[in-house]
Amino acid sequence: SKKVFCIGELLIDFVAENQGADLSKASIFTKKAGGAPANVACAISKLGGRSAFVGCVGEDPFGTYLVNTIDAFDVDLSLIQRTSVFTTLAFVSLAENGERDFVFSRGADRELQYDSSIKSLFRDQMVHLGAATALLGGPLEKAYSHYLFDAITENAFISFDPNFRADLWKGNEKTFIKKCMPYIEKSHLCKFSLEEAQMLSKRDTLAEASEVLHQIGAEIITITLGAEGTWVSTKNTQQTIPSIPVSPVDTTGAGDAFIGCLLQQISQLPSHDMISENESQLMEMVEVANRAGALTTTGYGAIDSLPDRNQLNITE
Ligand code: ATP
Repeated sequence: SKKVFCIGELLIDFVAENQGADLSKASIFTKKAGGAPANVACAISKLGGRSAFVGCVGEDPFGTYLVNTIDAFDVDLSLIQRTSVFTTLAFVSLAENGERDFVFSRGADRELQYDSSIKSLFRDQMVHLGAATALLGGPLEKAYSHYLFDAITENAFISFDPNFRADLWKGNEKTFIKKCMPYIEKSHLCKFSLEEAQMLSKRDTLAEASEVLHQIGAEIITITLGAEGTWVSTKNTQQTIPSIPVSPVDTTGAGDAFIGCLLQQISQLPSHDMISENESQLMEMVEVANRAGALTTTGYGAIDSLPDRNQLNITE
């Protein structure tokens, strides 16, 4: 199988335990490992795939906690970097109306230095760019664009999830859109939420948004629709693949479980060209990935509730 290099942030989410309190009122916080690309790496490994995480954490106890947490999933951590800059911290609370209250102290994740020696490892493998903080500037953003270029020249399968966070881009949405374009252009697979697809394409409907995103360059487009399932669009076919009914308790990380599960399945193919040629196989894979996303919502936390192969009834 191929190895999936997941590049981007690994950070601490301090999740408020006080139900229905905004951050100004919350007093008890639980420390959780977070960061979309790291979640994806864990999702892949938990399903028996091979993944590596490329990112930077601090030389402080929180960085050590993060490394230990990811290590427990058997993700390859040989490319992780440590820095004297403090580990990135996010504080999250679910207010009474269900809305997220969120603040962010950016630190070590930003400091990832580009390493040209990684390039050869990408040869015919897979690279997942889950952009959440990566396009916010700093060495990480530079490293990202180099790794995109390296992935192209090394014939890697490229996957992109913009992970738009409204809290991080308030007033700068246009910049975000512009910065996403090269990644959409060069990706074999893109994963969007409906909001992201609409924002990036400037179109409202799934069909029109997909058309614009294909024109930009994305080969396979998945737009995750929560309980509704996932819209899948290739040059030839477009359809919504339904999810399974579940009783969600925490939807955090459903998208990461979804894309991780899809990438894990693609990593088993002898050649990634096969995925764009065989649409019915792609739809079957999305059906499995939907179940991974759905099951993740039935447990608390992103990383803690990632499903394994038994839960997905994968036997082969
Ligand atoms: P997040 O940003 O919270 O990680 P997302 O918005 O990227 O999530 P979702 O659409 O919430 O992604 O979820 C990904 C996939 O998981 C969906 O396409 C769907 O298949 C499945 N899923 C999510 N929520 C539910 C639900 N309530 N019921 C059934 N399936 C769900």
